[in-house]
Formats: sequence, C-alpha cells, structure tokens
Amino acid sequence: MSAPSITAVTPATCRNCSAPTGGAHFCPACGKIQPLPRATDYFTFFGLPQKLTLDLADLEQRFHSLSWKLHPDNFMRASEDERQLSLDRSSQLNDAYRRLRDPVARVEYLLGLAGMRKEGQKKQQAPPELLEEVFELNESLDELRDARGSGGNATEMAGLRTKLEGAQHRFESLLVGVDQELARVSSEWDRALDSGADDTAKKKLMERMNEILNRRSYVRNLVNGVRQELTG
Ligand SMILES: [Zn+2]
Repeated sequence: MSAPSITAVTPATCRNCSAPTGGAHFCPACGKIQPLPRATDYFTFFGLPQKLTLDLADLEQRFHSLSWKLHPDNFMRASEDERQLSLDRSSQLNDAYRRLRDPVARVEYLLGLAGMRKEGQKKQQAPPELLEEVFELNESLDELRDARGSGGNATEMAGLRTKLEGAQHRFESLLVGVDQELARVSSEWDRALDSGADDTAKKKLMERMNEILNRRSYVRNLVNGVRQELTG
C-alpha cells in the first residue's frame, strides 16, 4: 500500500499563537514565519500538487512572491530564531525552484521522493537498440585517438571528425526523442493523479520514467564524450 506514497502532512500549529498552520510558510492567523514541517517536499513548498507538467510562468511567479516574503530584509527586527528561519527557507526556496523548473530534474526529484530513482545497474552497457551504433561510435573514437597519437594525416583526421560529428548529431536527436518520451509519460503521470490511480499504476509509471532517465543519462554521456573528443 505504502509503496510510492510521497505526501506527508504534518499537522502543525503556530509557535506564536497556536493557530493551526496547515504547514504554511506563515501563520494564517498572526503572520509569523513557521518552521518547515520535516516532510515538506518541493511541490508542497510551492503549494503545488505532485504533477510533472508545470506552468513555468506560474512557478516563477510563486518563486518571486515567496522570495520576496522570505527576504531577510523583512526580518531585520524579528527574533534571531525567525531570522534564521527566513534564511533557511530562502535557501530551500532556491533549491526547490532549481529542481522543479527543469523538467528532467523534476522527474528525478519526484522519483527520489518515492525512493523510485534507481540508477541502471549496468550503467556502462548500451541499451540493446543502440548497441550497433555505440559500437561504431567507439570504433571511430579509437581511430581518431590513434590517428592523433601517431600524428595521422590531415585527410584521415578530417574524415574521422566528420563521421564523429554525424554520430554526435544522431545521438543528440535521439536525446530529443528521449525527452519527448519523458514528457509523454510525465503527462500520463498527471492524468493518473487526476483520476486517482492506485499505487500499483503509479509505481509502474515511475518505473518507466526511471528507465527513461537511465537511457537519457547513457545517451547524454555518449554525446558529451564525443563532444569532448572533438574539441579536445
Ligand atoms: Zn500564529
């Protein structure tokens, strides 16, 4: 039952006036800044559901509004304790914004919350559908290094570079495809939340997203490797 449960609501009361705060940043009754309930996640931090398709303009607005409210200048005459809280919250706010505004980091974060982010165990192994191309790529990389090492002739080097640039572009467009797939499954996740899907269904979606993230990081490493070799 408890597999991907990621919401933890801590009933909280204001330390100043004892009014219930519902985990809000500021007490709704007296306006004093509140300590963050321990299990607050970044979505809750912004008052958002744990959905993966975010309106970035809305997120930015929430970010600016909160950073203005939490700004240390507003706590110049507050107690030492409240000043510290405002500093802590401000730094959490920046982390939260950084994680949520990026669609990939957002998925990673959500999976992490549920303990569902698992790096591929065979990280160095190519996804089966890429095996052949990765093999060719590595061969060209080796040839380029060899040619470089032995002061290879310019024509040969240029040919290898062109070949590698082609491979780089192919893998880059593959990366675009992977991101599109991630966006598709992200929308599926949102629909699942809306329709009150059960934990098993949610877990399956998370497993799929985890796989996509692993494939993504594999391809991204390939692209970076080629880029490095071509500029190095
Ligand atoms: Zn209060």
